Amino acid sequence: MAISGARQDQKSGLSGWGRTYLPGREIRSENLEQASQDYHLSRGLGRSYGDSSLPAEGDQAALGTTLADRILAFDDQTGVIRVEAGLCLAELNRLYLSRHWFTPVTPGTKFVTVGGMVASDVHGKNHHVSGTFGRHVRALKIRTGKGDVVECSREESADLFLASIGGMGLPGHLLEVEFQMEKIPSPWIYTESYRISCLDELLDKLKEKGKEWPMTVAWVDTVARGKSMGRGILFVGRWATPEEANAGAPPPRKAMTMPITLPSGALNRLTIGLFNRAVYYTHIPKKKSGIVDPDKYFYPLDSILHWNRLYGSAGVTQHQSVIPSESGSQGIRDMIETLAKAGTASFLTVIKDCGSEGDGILSFPCPGMSLALDIPINQRTPRVIQSLNATVKASAGRIYLTKDGLSTAEDFQQMETRLPAFLKIKERWDPEGTIRSEQSERLFKKIEL
Ligand SMILES: Cc1cc2nc3c(=O)[nH]c(=O)nc-3n(C[C@H](O)[C@H](O)[C@H](O)COP(=O)(O)OP(=O)(O)OC[C@H]3O[C@@H](n4cnc5c(N)ncnc54)[C@H](O)[C@@H]3O)c2cc1C
Repeated sequence: MAISGARQDQKSGLSGWGRTYLPGREIRSENLEQASQDYHLSRGLGRSYGDSSLPAEGDQAALGTTLADRILAFDDQTGVIRVEAGLCLAELNRLYLSRHWFTPVTPGTKFVTVGGMVASDVHGKNHHVSGTFGRHVRALKIRTGKGDVVECSREESADLFLASIGGMGLPGHLLEVEFQMEKIPSPWIYTESYRISCLDELLDKLKEKGKEWPMTVAWVDTVARGKSMGRGILFVGRWATPEEANAGAPPPRKAMTMPITLPSGALNRLTIGLFNRAVYYTHIPKKKSGIVDPDKYFYPLDSILHWNRLYGSAGVTQHQSVIPSESGSQGIRDMIETLAKAGTASFLTVIKDCGSEGDGILSFPCPGMSLALDIPINQRTPRVIQSLNATVKASAGRIYLTKDGLSTAEDFQQMETRLPAFLKIKERWDPEGTIRSEQSERLFKKIEL
């Protein structure tokens, strides 16, 4: 396991959002086309949790893309936009929301780059309707591992294009992204939320509401036991009509900053249980509705900057898996049980209804339910991840690479049957294997299964 031993103790260097630091630096350039010749990995805003944005051992630095953030073209008739890969989603939203255009798919934080959104092929609350971000990408400009700069799409160099969507930056550095924005009726969201007392009902309602609502997500209390196991709150939403919407565009929201790093262990089953009870019981009445700012709806966590400091210096890992519909809901139940048995808990637990699979070769979601567990890191965490992965494998599911920092190559390769096809394409465009990350060295290496 890469995140271990001496390298884990080093509190300088680079980390993902999970705060596990490895040696290495990020060097930023506003000219990605030129600078990408000199690096083995690009990195956006480091919101992937584990080691996917960290240079592999032996590589000194990753290319930081955030200075390359120009909007190169926008057609306000069709909504097709072309941007440099380092553009931050928060900036895109700031510029276009009031003009009634929005990204077709957004993750749960706006502090990501468009390059990071492509490399992870991110999904949002609308996956069951709109698929992943990659579905809306029309063209990519990439510096491949071979060194060529290639313009690709579903028609041109399609293998490179499809391997790059969800390919964690490994086929090549993403330089420019062209995608289709979504026209929205107003810059406000109409939302309803329901407090639900057990897991079965929560999962049934999530599925059922997905038939009428374009955006759905469930928050789950993973500490409650017995009949209340898996109780939670279901949120649904859609863009508000002009008649429903508040006047004008939403004002910018002020964010607080988590000023200190809490001691590791401050978030534990007891404190998380108390927090969960408070969230659950303060959802009064049981059904709520209203018009809300998209920032509040899509990005509740962004209102506290550096909230990952809550996890202390040991940090956090996220285990996100998708359990295919054919496997039923037992896998979700088993994973919640695994946390209880291990005496740990997930601070933020989210279940999403996933629609059809994207065409990115390693794209994460497939039809079924996705469970995301934020688990504080301690010595027992690698074993917890192994148990969770055992359930995912038994359910023929898969894990989301952009969240992972602790899975083993054996587990990953047993669940990722598409890996050989991906590696074949990577070899074509990067025969020397120049482009690599700490994560690719950990998970993609050749092993005997
Ligand atoms: C609070 C929070 C909520 C989240 N919610 C969701 C969610 O709802 N749905 C979801 O899908 N994801 C979610 N994520 C994960 C996040 O969307 C992804 O990790 C995303 O890739 C982060 O973008 P980034 O710019 O920070 O990329 P980084 O973390 O810097 O990099 C992620 C990967 O992309 C590669 N990469 C980045 N830029 C380039 C480039 N220009 N060229 C080549 N490769 C590149 C990196 O090498 C790395 O492999 C969430 C993360 C957080 C912290």
